[in-house]
Amino acid sequence: MGLSRFDYYAPETIGDACELAGKLGEGTMFMAGGTDLLIKAKRRLLNVSAVIDIKKIKELNKITFDEKEGLVIGSTVTLTEIENHPLIKEKYPAIADAAAATANVQIRNMASAAGNLCNAAPSAENAPVLLAMGANVTVEGRDGKRIIPLDKFFTGPGQTVLKQGELLTAINVPVPPKGAGTSYQHISARGKVDISSVCVGAMLVMKGDICEDARIFLGAVAPTPMMAKNAQELLKGKKITEELLQTAGIEASKECKPITDMRASKEYRTLMVAVLTGRAIDESRRRAAK
Ligand SMILES: Cc1cc2nc3c(=O)[nH]c(=O)nc-3n(C[C@H](O)[C@H](O)[C@H](O)COP(=O)(O)OP(=O)(O)OC[C@H]3O[C@@H](n4cnc5c(N)ncnc54)[C@H](O)[C@@H]3O)c2cc1C
Repeated sequence: MGLSRFDYYAPETIGDACELAGKLGEGTMFMAGGTDLLIKAKRRLLNVSAVIDIKKIKELNKITFDEKEGLVIGSTVTLTEIENHPLIKEKYPAIADAAAATANVQIRNMASAAGNLCNAAPSAENAPVLLAMGANVTVEGRDGKRIIPLDKFFTGPGQTVLKQGELLTAINVPVPPKGAGTSYQHISARGKVDISSVCVGAMLVMKGDICEDARIFLGAVAPTPMMAKNAQELLKGKKITEELLQTAGIEASKECKPITDMRASKEYRTLMVAVLTGRAIDESRRRAAK
């Protein structure tokens, strides 16, 4: 089945993109890498009448960092750029790990992290770490700009709070707290080429051996990426021992709500949540100690 016909636009400013999207209305889709959009359009999973390619908008294609505002990733920055960015690798290693774990090199050279979030697959590889680090997103439309905490962004499989014509312009990640360590863990049936069956993002804030704060998010085990609340609580104020990280992993597996699909069974996913959560806690703790 080939692509159906649609109108194509390539504006050069955010203002023009939002104006166009507002004017064209229903059936108009923004496109960054197109690695989800064009496949869905081809399979007729989306009714696309117009595509607004945002890759010509220069201000969306940048990564910035400052010690107060933290990290800002523009919405056309590719996963390859994130994976290889020296500052992200140094200060936000789990974000680089999640980008590197997404798809294969050809896809990462085209795809954006913003597109991964807007596509809103429950398994979206880049969501759990960003959630664990307290990220928010900037979105702009004809009616102005708003900042949305990422934990309020996803509403269901393929669904977000974005309104028709709203453009996600940036992903904003705060400066990690002193003593923080982060981790991204995932498993998929066909190694690097497949989407994760389970993925976990974690951030632990350590003071010596003691965990002062913990944030753990699970992917592909609920309709949206979800917080492993009970597992987090178990860790707070305690020394992270081998036994505790295993207990927290089991707690996370009790909280998740996986389904059986072509990628994995519900039972396998439940087991893997325990294993990967334990690993994510362990790696976060070790990275915090560096
Ligand atoms: C072979 C293959 C392997 C893959 N493997 C993985 C994997 O391992 N893990 C994984 O998570 N995903 C995977 N994907 C899915 C996809 O590559 C990612 O979700 C990717 O990050 C999407 O980014 P994009 O820039 O290509 O998005 P696009 O396809 O351009 O857009 C995706 C959706 O978001 C909307 N959108 C894009 N940018 C914006 C914006 N700035 N504002 C508002 N809406 C926007 C589009 O309208 C569309 O609905 C795979 C895809 C393929 C084809």
